[in-house]
Amino acid sequence: MEEMIAYCGIICSKCPVFKATQADDDEAREEVAKLWSKQFGIDMKPQDAYCDGCLRTNGRLIGHCRVCGIRACGMERKVETCAACNDFACEKLQAFHKMAPHARKMLEKMRVR
Ligand code: SF4
Ligand code: SF4
Repeated sequence: MEEMIAYCGIICSKCPVFKATQADDDEAREEVAKLWSKQFGIDMKPQDAYCDGCLRTNGRLIGHCRVCGIRACGMERKVETCAACNDFACEKLQAFHKMAPHARKMLEKMRVR
């Protein structure tokens, strides 16, 4: 499977929901729904576990990603990811990275490449 790194630095292609969607695997959808419900204290159902990744323009997205301002901004600016943006790291991105420090690390790595 080809690697997909989101605007924010999350690796979509490693996400269990992305993987379950691409493999069209009902069992994997059930597993991730159970796991995330427990982990994040939410009521996630297997039918909620569909995502084609951040960079697809006409694909399915999960939860917050449907309304994400970082994604909208990255698309508008036509950057590959936020790592390529002249305004890196803007306030929006910094706020998100407080919840996802691993995504920040990924973008920082991409910036020094
Ligand atoms: S939609 Fe936003 S939060 Fe979701 S992966 Fe893309 S940039 Fe990150
Ligand atoms: S302004 Fe912020 S959210 Fe928008 S592309 Fe640049 S770094 Fe990403």
